[in-house]
Amino acid sequence: MPRFYPSVRTLMGPGPSDVHPRVLQALSMPTIGHLDPEFVGLMDEIKSLLQYAFQTKNELTIPVSAPGSAGMETCFANLIEPGEKVLVAINGVFGNRMKENVERCGGIPIVVNSPWGKPISPESIEEELKKDSEIKILAFVHAETSTGVLSDAKTLGLLAKKYDVLTIADTVTSLGGSPLKVDEWQLDAVYSGTQKCLSCVPGLSPITISPKAVQKIKNRKTKVQSWFLDLNLVMGYWDSNNKRSYHHTAPVNSLYALHESLLMLKEEGLENSWKRHAEMHEYLQSQLTPLGIEFLVDKEDRTPQLNAVSIPAQFDDAQTRAYLLKEYSLEIGAGLGDFAGRIWRIGLMGQSSTKKNIDLLEAGLRSLLV
Ligand code: PLP
Repeated sequence: MPRFYPSVRTLMGPGPSDVHPRVLQALSMPTIGHLDPEFVGLMDEIKSLLQYAFQTKNELTIPVSAPGSAGMETCFANLIEPGEKVLVAINGVFGNRMKENVERCGGIPIVVNSPWGKPISPESIEEELKKDSEIKILAFVHAETSTGVLSDAKTLGLLAKKYDVLTIADTVTSLGGSPLKVDEWQLDAVYSGTQKCLSCVPGLSPITISPKAVQKIKNRKTKVQSWFLDLNLVMGYWDSNNKRSYHHTAPVNSLYALHESLLMLKEEGLENSWKRHAEMHEYLQSQLTPLGIEFLVDKEDRTPQLNAVSIPAQFDDAQTRAYLLKEYSLEIGAGLGDFAGRIWRIGLMGQSSTKKNIDLLEAGLRSLLV
């Protein structure tokens, strides 16, 4: 069997995004032991770089050693005790997954639906919070990757505080690409992924947990049902004040890569990164509009790094995506659920968020119209 050599792609789908050579180079550095003093120093730096990315001082800010879905499960499994009511805002695929998580943790989901393609309505959330004082947690997705909608995480976070409710926020697609201020917005359990706007390799899930949420986890009456994701155990591994105790073997090389991608974010500056994503979204729109391609989401509700666009009649969905991949080595994403066959999802995340990539996509699409 020959060795595997992947093609060099331009990744403009819903993730993963293009990974910078610096990050790939970091990944290939020599593996060392995960309790080696040098590695322990690296873990501390990763924590502090993640605190910068999330804009938080939360001590419990770490990468979970598994993809974004594991960060999601970590937050739900640790914060929910069986029988607790959790208000879940759903406006796309990932909100639905939150509901699944609540059920599997023995919680009672109370769902507030907003139409796909629209943001979560804070008014509907407040109505439920007012009605039911037994609600313990509000869970919502900041940037819904299935539709490209950005919800108002600040308003939702502050609303939850008004009713003394903890928040779980999915920032898998927003971290690094859209303004996110965990402390200022008073979010309690926030998870993300490495393969979107951080432009790192897939397979890690940065999370940050507020002191109030940590207290709840420490005071649980029942054990977290997952041994691997139990933060009471994981905290001992990542706590820089204590002697690190073995929990699992960290994905050493992936963490080198994460460190490098976070360094690149710091070098660019978080605000500059948010600005670049916003500008590239504008540029994408200016290039696609002449081709008759329209955006699904109202301008003020769009997440610039994930663009849901209608597929004009002249284009066949699957054939166009296959053509772009074959002729331009360029990936864009298909629609999900009700939007399958009706929209494309064009990612402009992290290193993929460049004029060069947008020009390549525009050229590929235009070539099908002549
Ligand atoms: N949440 C959102 C909003 C996502 O977009 C994704 C992945 O696309 C996930 C969670 C799950 O992340 P992962 O695929 O890394 O497990």
